[in-house]
Amino acid sequence: MRVDCSQFAELKVELAGYISEKLEGGAIALVQSGDIVIDWLSESPQYRSSVQIISLIQSFLTTKDLSGEYELNSFEDFIGIHLRGGIQIPKRSARKQPDLPPNVLRCAHCGYVTSDESALRLHERLHYL
Ligand SMILES: [Zn+2]
Repeated sequence: MRVDCSQFAELKVELAGYISEKLEGGAIALVQSGDIVIDWLSESPQYRSSVQIISLIQSFLTTKDLSGEYELNSFEDFIGIHLRGGIQIPKRSARKQPDLPPNVLRCAHCGYVTSDESALRLHERLHYL
């Protein structure tokens, strides 16, 4: 398991020590280049949960009073520590066009705009021909 600390460089050594200590011999956490790599010493599956590591990182952030500044994401055996707001979320919702005035209707299929509801219905019928 790997924890990406590229945005958490100053505290990664301390965090690695914290994780090792809290896992009480179940694993060791080592700093390797920009990441913390967690080596599990036990084959027992309850020691292999990324949920457990995430909650340890969160409690570490809380003790440092940093929980408001960082957020965690995880994917399989990988956990990232990111400055809040640093993750680029694809703006799929931008297609919703929320800025239209309330009396303007937009065709969901092509973006055709009209203020006349019957005209829009007539227009939308074209897409089903
Ligand atoms: Zn249309």
